[in-house]
Amino acid sequence: MSAVLMDGKALSAKVRGEILEKARALTAAGTRPGLAVILVGEDPASQVYVRNKEKACAECGFYSEKYVLPAETSQQALLELVEELGRNPSIHGILCQLPLPAHISEQAVIAAIPPEKDVDAFHPANVGHIMIGDFDFLPCTPAGVMELLDAYGIDPKGKRCVVIGRSNIVGKPMAMLLLHRHGTVTICHSRTQGLADICREADILVAAVGRAHFVTPDMVKPGAAVIDVGMNRVDGKLCGDVDPAAAAVAGYLTPVPGGVGPMTITMLMKNTLRAAEKAAR
Ligand code: NAP
Repeated sequence: MSAVLMDGKALSAKVRGEILEKARALTAAGTRPGLAVILVGEDPASQVYVRNKEKACAECGFYSEKYVLPAETSQQALLELVEELGRNPSIHGILCQLPLPAHISEQAVIAAIPPEKDVDAFHPANVGHIMIGDFDFLPCTPAGVMELLDAYGIDPKGKRCVVIGRSNIVGKPMAMLLLHRHGTVTICHSRTQGLADICREADILVAAVGRAHFVTPDMVKPGAAVIDVGMNRVDGKLCGDVDPAAAAVAGYLTPVPGGVGPMTITMLMKNTLRAAEKAAR
């Protein structure tokens, strides 16, 4: 068997086209969606992510502001900027690129973002909404995975779903979204025993581990949908958490690059549009 490669780049381009149309209509009615992105420090990966987010804003017809602050910026100064953006009516979404330098509490900064402008959906209020299934914003990476599954007609209902990774950003909300869609979900982590056996039971296997080629072909059930969230650099080359040889066993597989990655930023644009639409009401 050779897996169908799930094309996140093509789906992303389609969704961004739809967002652009809606953003144009909203702008014509007096509200141009606006996103502020804050970067503290000089982490090269974060610089790339921020640049890609700026490009996506331009592609979707959004207004965007970028704040690049030195690594030694105080927590107080960052909180003041976030609060100022919270009051700015032309900004509908605020994103503070993580990770932040060690002297700044990420939780304090996230909590300072008004929930209605929290387009990453990391604020505890939004996390709570996701838990109870009543949400405005979905966390971008898991939301992108759900759009990919939908686009390829893969319905989690009644399926055995396994998520490897339990981070607040990916693993936990991913499991929750699959559960909302009636999947039977298992979350694995570094203390899980018998992980390979659990993975082999999965109809939908999501890898969000952060270890290159962690999922090997023998861990995949024949015909399963395998979603590779990982973004790892090995000898300067981007690679996922799933060994590409798993394509010989899986029914569907997201490539890295070109799978989940582009969808994540597109979901950020979707959340920003939604925030602007709500503000315009
Ligand atoms: P993270 O916070 O480091 O979490 C990694 C998770 O993997 C943890 O829950 C950890 O378990 C688990 N894990 C680590 N080693 C393991 C092992 N040997 N066996 C089983 N589980 C293990 O990472 P993250 O932020 O969730 O990101 C995960 C990956 O996705 C990274 O490669 C990241 O770059 C990528 N990512 C991609 C996108 C995208 O748009 N494509 C977005 C976000 C993240 P413990 O909890 O027990 O430590």
